[in-house]
Amino acid sequence: MSQTTLRVDPSCMDDFDPNSLLADEAIRRIQQQIQPTSGFEKIALRSALGRILYSDVLSKIEVPGHTNSAMDGYALRGDDLPSAGTFTLDVIGTAWAGTPYTGAVSAKQCVRIMTGAPLPEGTDTVVIQEHAEITDDGIRIDARHKPGQNVRHAGEDIAKGQTVLNAGRRLTPADIGLLASLGIGETKVYRKIRVAFFSTGDELRSIGEPLEPGTIYDSNRYTLQGMLTRIGAESIDMGVIRDRREDTFEAFREAATCADVIITSGGVSVGEADYVKECLEELGQVTFWKVAMKPGRPLAFGRIKDAWFFGLPGNPVSVMVTFYMFVQPALRRLMGETEPDPLTLQARCESKLSKKAGRTEYQRGVLEYDGSGQLTVSKTGSQGSGILTSMSHANCFIILPLELESVEPGSTVTVLPFAAIM
Ligand code: AMP
Ligand code: MG
Repeated sequence: MSQTTLRVDPSCMDDFDPNSLLADEAIRRIQQQIQPTSGFEKIALRSALGRILYSDVLSKIEVPGHTNSAMDGYALRGDDLPSAGTFTLDVIGTAWAGTPYTGAVSAKQCVRIMTGAPLPEGTDTVVIQEHAEITDDGIRIDARHKPGQNVRHAGEDIAKGQTVLNAGRRLTPADIGLLASLGIGETKVYRKIRVAFFSTGDELRSIGEPLEPGTIYDSNRYTLQGMLTRIGAESIDMGVIRDRREDTFEAFREAATCADVIITSGGVSVGEADYVKECLEELGQVTFWKVAMKPGRPLAFGRIKDAWFFGLPGNPVSVMVTFYMFVQPALRRLMGETEPDPLTLQARCESKLSKKAGRTEYQRGVLEYDGSGQLTVSKTGSQGSGILTSMSHANCFIILPLELESVEPGSTVTVLPFAAIM
């Protein structure tokens, strides 16, 4: 393993710590180690939304399969179009979508045609019905038309043998429609990955249990479950693990037998009265990092038997931020996804933001357009790592780079909109 073990500093007060690992470096080290799972399954197209394609999909047919009319009107020969004045053509039949006109069309003839109907033999042009005058002698058209107009050509969307979707793509509703248009009823996708998670801390209670003095409800398992569901992983909720040696060992052992990835929250900062670190030392190869970021400074990453392990901080906002920054890209890679990273935007900051130099901060904001079409962002109240409302009200992170010390209203900041995951 190419991890670097860093001395863990017991003080939480030292905001600038030269031994801290940069967030980008932590992401790079994690991504470097993780490879896509080799497992796949064949599933019905109807169940494939949000799944990751295992192999490229090639079309066995042309789309459209036949040259057809884009409009309701009259199919005719482009050579017959008048260059000036008007011209009258005999209507010799009708072509319906699904019921083609099977005869051939000669000069001075035309066929009534509906949208999607194959162009009859001999024709190459469609005049829309609004531009055709019906007379006793046939239909009369004028000189405004161009040969080849209102026609959709066979194969103009997709050629036979063309790659329509690449391996590693997360299937969207449009992709599912595209596969259906090719008559593909089954797709080969990466298998789902299983992620087991548990919370650690004697102060934590589950919903339904009474709150004695000094105890709090466990919310991290709920945010984790939500984010895992959105990313398309199978989640295994192992509950709250009390700070007891045997319980902690047992939880890690069990998680490693049933999951590809184990995520814990709490217990990775210094001074924890628990056994997380002790268990990890015995069961796996895990590095404890102090990342130069806020929220979410402590982070543990490594292997426990055959599973990847992420030890996230306990604070509710830190859990979400570290999941977004570190766990999400790792899970996507493990799942086989190769989509590019989400785009960041530049916006005018409406709030005064304070921060400390020496760490990247991910403050929570609301991104919107003002009346004049300018993108603006405002912070969502107090930015403490335990204040989950700051996350709940937000639709983006405001990313404040390492050396910045404060942001005045009116300055431009970099914003990362939450994709569909938060
Ligand atoms: P820790 O990282 O374990 O020191 O926890 C940091 C803070 O987050 C403490 O105030 C904990 O009570 C709180 N915390 C830890 N785990 C959870 C959880 N699962 N749900 C809500 N708060 C938590
Ligand atoms: Mg704790």
